[in-house]
Order: sequence, then structure tokens, then C-alpha cells
Amino acid sequence: MFYDDLSPYTYWAADAGDVFTEVGTGTRFVTVRDAYRRLNVGWLEADRPWTAGPVPARFASGLLALLEAQAVNEALGLHECDLCPEPLDDAHPWYEPRPGHRCASAGTGEIRVPGAPGTAYAAPSLIGHYVLDHGYLPPREFVDAVLAFGLRDRSAAFPSFAFPWMPDGATVYDALNE
Ligand SMILES: [Zn+2]
Repeated sequence: MFYDDLSPYTYWAADAGDVFTEVGTGTRFVTVRDAYRRLNVGWLEADRPWTAGPVPARFASGLLALLEAQAVNEALGLHECDLCPEPLDDAHPWYEPRPGHRCASAGTGEIRVPGAPGTAYAAPSLIGHYVLDHGYLPPREFVDAVLAFGLRDRSAAFPSFAFPWMPDGATVYDALNE
């Protein structure tokens, strides 16, 4: 799955919105539709050009914290890294990093990082692996957005939910109360 950095997100139908899963319980879902414009970041493939370079340490740690705290569109399945030299054998759990790597080379779902007003960056969960294990340098505006992102920011509309961020205009599906 390759998309140019900062191109409009088209992986999932626009009218389907984004589904945020509450990390921890895994039983609360918030659907967000039309709340922001989505821009792709970090959808890499081996045969397509991408930018390598050093990233600020604070960006790397902030990105890892964000990946721990957020889960978006998890139902879309497992993405495997196309940049790693060979597929892992079946005995290697997909969520365990390869030897010498910091992040797993397969992942589910995506993350959203708020950018300019009305905009959110849409990155695959594998972006942590791309940055930390392959030296991927995302666009500067994405680096700045992660640095500016406060993980404690929560929508006033959902004070009890353990989401790192919720845009206005989200629709709640609460499986705990169904
Ligand atoms: Zn890889």
C-alpha cells in the first residue's frame, strides 16, 4: 500500500469515517466523520521513493507514545513491512520486533495526528517501525504536529474515554452499554 506523503487519504471510503478504538478496554468505539481532512503520511513501499534522515529524539519518543495510546481503523487488517528483507517465519509473533529492531514489522490499524485546523494526518501504525528501524523521515509538518500533540488532550465531549484525542463531531458507539 503506497501513498505519497501529504496526498489526500483514500484508503478507506470517505463516508465511512474513522473508527477510534479505546486502547485498554477495546470495547468502546468512536466514529468520526467529516470532522477533518485526512492527509497521508508514511505509507511506504520498497519500490517507491521515500525520504530518509535523522529525526529529533523527542519526535521519536512522542510518536511511540502516540502509537501506544491510539488505535484507528483496526478492522482493516494486518499490514506487513515491505522494506524488511524477508518475510518473518510463521513462528515469529507478528507483534514482536525483529532482532535488532525497536518496533514490530507488522501492525494493525492507523493513527491520526491533528494538524492545521480541519486537518489530520493519517499514518499506518507501522510508521513507528519505518522511523525507528528504517530511518524514514516524515514531512516536516508531520514532525511538528507530533511534537505539538498533547497526549492528554481529550474532547470535552468524552471526558471519561481513554482516547488521546477526539475531534469535535464524533459519533460514539459504546459496546460497554449495548
Ligand atoms: Zn521493516
